[in-house]
Amino acid sequence: MSQYQENQSISQETAAIAVVRVDNHFRVAATRPLAQDTLLLHLEGTRVPQATRYSVQVGLSEHVDAAKDKTHEAALDLYPWRCLNHSCRPNAYFRGHDLLALRKIEAWEQITFDYNTTEFELATPFACSCGAAQCCGLVRGFRHLTVTEQVRRASILADYLCVFLNEAG
Ligand SMILES: [Zn+2]
Repeated sequence: MSQYQENQSISQETAAIAVVRVDNHFRVAATRPLAQDTLLLHLEGTRVPQATRYSVQVGLSEHVDAAKDKTHEAALDLYPWRCLNHSCRPNAYFRGHDLLALRKIEAWEQITFDYNTTEFELATPFACSCGAAQCCGLVRGFRHLTVTEQVRRASILADYLCVFLNEAG
């Protein structure tokens, strides 16, 4: 049983996050005010060697994706991380399989992370409309960032991507 499921089954203790639907799009939101470094969710799923549209990269050739045999409804409960949107100014980041709050997060604020901090190469690149001053524009993955953009993300970068920072000097 995943940590997320355990949280749901304890009625006294509300999970820190929930999947909500806004304008027909799913997103992840905080269910209450959260302090910096709060554990938001633990990445559960099937390990796959190739990135997919919804997978999260956890190693050089290791990605976590949703198991395909689940119903849509079950998948929403099991894999809330699939609904995490990207932002170039995120309020969360991955440390291994844990998603942590990068700063204080307000109740019902959307939870986002920077896909460029986990994905070396996105399976499905897209144009970002996050509105951040330092928005990277087209989100294609870490390898497509300039060295300056890579270094700027050093503190929230996935461990396996830090190797490339050192190589860049
Ligand atoms: Zn952006």
